[in-house]
Order: sequence, then structure tokens, then C-alpha cells
Amino acid sequence: MIISVASGKGGTGKTTIAVSLSLSIESIEDVQFLDCDVEEPNAHIFLKPTIKTQNKAYIPVPQIDETRCNYCGRCAEVCVYNAIAILPPSEGKKGNSLIFPQLCHGCGACSALCPQGAIKEVNREIGVVEAGNCGRIEFIQGRLNIGEAISPPLIRQVKKHIKPEKTVIIDVPPGTSCPVVASLKGSDYSILVTEPTPFGLNDLILAVELLKIMNIPFGVVINRADLGTDEVDKYCYEQDIPVLMRIPFKREVAITYSKGEPMVKVFPQYKKDFTDLFNKIKKERCKRENRDS
Ligand code: SF4
Ligand code: SF4
Repeated sequence: MIISVASGKGGTGKTTIAVSLSLSIESIEDVQFLDCDVEEPNAHIFLKPTIKTQNKAYIPVPQIDETRCNYCGRCAEVCVYNAIAILPPSEGKKGNSLIFPQLCHGCGACSALCPQGAIKEVNREIGVVEAGNCGRIEFIQGRLNIGEAISPPLIRQVKKHIKPEKTVIIDVPPGTSCPVVASLKGSDYSILVTEPTPFGLNDLILAVELLKIMNIPFGVVINRADLGTDEVDKYCYEQDIPVLMRIPFKREVAITYSKGEPMVKVFPQYKKDFTDLFNKIKKERCKRENRDS
């Protein structure tokens, strides 16, 4: 089962939940932890894995052979990311081509559709995929190179490591944009972590809409549940969204976090709550499967 842990906004405690869940069920499940928050992976701070392999990640970007190109502009037309520009003739030249590698997603459309066969692909390094383990937990993370603007290709390379026979926990980047979609895709269930504030509710609503479009079943975990308002609870009730867990604010937990210690290691009493969370997810998933069959 693939469980993604997502959040419409940053700072809700998403990584804390993903890490705590993994550490709480590692004795009963074969767990694989994927940190897909490749722009700022931080689960390793808490899990402290032993990294065994580091593989550079590349994407194929186009290179135009000017001796073959007739500047028809087809490649620029098909590139939805505006990573190629074909310029009109000037200074006695039939035309000019410009490639913006930082915008290229490596989809291959331009090279496949060039009528002159003038485009070859060259690898461009975008980051690294690291794999190792933290006790019984298999750990994989992506790290995007500084200055890179596009993370979904690296996220997809991290996800190639998924072993569906295991319980896979994915730490999803915050927000609702393309990296989030790339991370969530293929999930059997998603946990949306939020906090009971107007910002928390606003971004929860966006994340809920995304998961509905992606047809991924989900439930909500409310972190710092005793602070703020009850608007998140009301919203979940009205929308028939299961609230899987409420975690009250505790200063000691915040201190633990700031020291890079997983909360369930310092406060093992939480392990039962996270094991219950896992069992609820299994039940919710069964309910959904029965409803759909
Ligand atoms: S599609 Fe091919 S031939 Fe046309 S402009 Fe692009 S590289 Fe040149
Ligand atoms: S590979 Fe895809 S994204 Fe990159 S330039 Fe070609 S069409 Fe655009």
C-alpha cells in the first residue's frame, strides 16, 4: 500500500507525521520511506538513515544540429514548457534556435516530432537519488541541485524505487502544484496534514480539491489541534472527510522537533496513536474498495 503524506501548506508537521508513522509500524510492516520533497528533503534529519547508494539524476534535454535544422519551428510549437525558441532569419542566417535547458522537462516531444531529425538528446544533471536504510526502514530521497526550477522529473526517479509489496510512506512536498501531483500519483491513500487556522483551512480545501480530481482516497490529521478555531473540523464534517487523528500542541514535542529527534522515539507513548492511524487508513481503504466494487 502506498500512503502519501501531504499538506496544502508548509509547516503543518507533514514530515513529523510521515516519520512517526513509519517508525511506529516498522515492527509490524515492511516499510519503505520516500522523501519526495526534493527541493528541501528533511526526513533524513529525523530518520538518520545510513546512505548506501548515491546516483546522479539526469533529464534528457534537446540539442539541435544546425546543419539539419530548417527552422520550421515545430519543436517550439510542441514544447508546452517554452523551453525552445526558433527565431526568424537575420544577418544572412536562415534562422536561429535557442534552448532553455532549465525549463525543459525532458518529455522528448521535440525530438520525436522534429521532421528533420535534427534534435538529439543530451543528459543534464538535475540532482541525486540516495538510498539506504534506517533500521528496518528502507529509505530513499531525492535532492534537487541548487538553482534547479523543475522537480517532477527527479521525483519520478525517486518513485521508480517504489516496491508495491511494501508499505510505502511518501513525504510529499507542500502545496498543490506539479511536484505535489507527481508525488501523489499512484497513491492508494493520502493523509492530509493541516492545522486549525484560517490559512490551514484555506490550503486544506485546495489539497482536498486536488485529491478529488486525482481520485485518491484521503483523510485528515489535525496537528496542534487544540490551538486555533474549529473551522477545519466543521469543514471536514460538512464534506464527510474522516478526521483520522488529532495531535494536541505540546511544547516538548516542538523542542524534540527542533533537535531533529522523531517524536515517537522521545515519546514512545505516541506509537500506539500512529499504529491506530495506520489501522484506520487500512479500514478506510477497505471501505472505499468495497464501495467501488
Ligand atoms: S523541429 Fe527540427 S527542423 Fe524544425 S526548427 Fe525544430 S529542430 Fe529545426
Ligand atoms: S524535451 Fe519536452 S520539455 Fe524539453 S524542450 Fe523538448 S518538448 Fe520541451
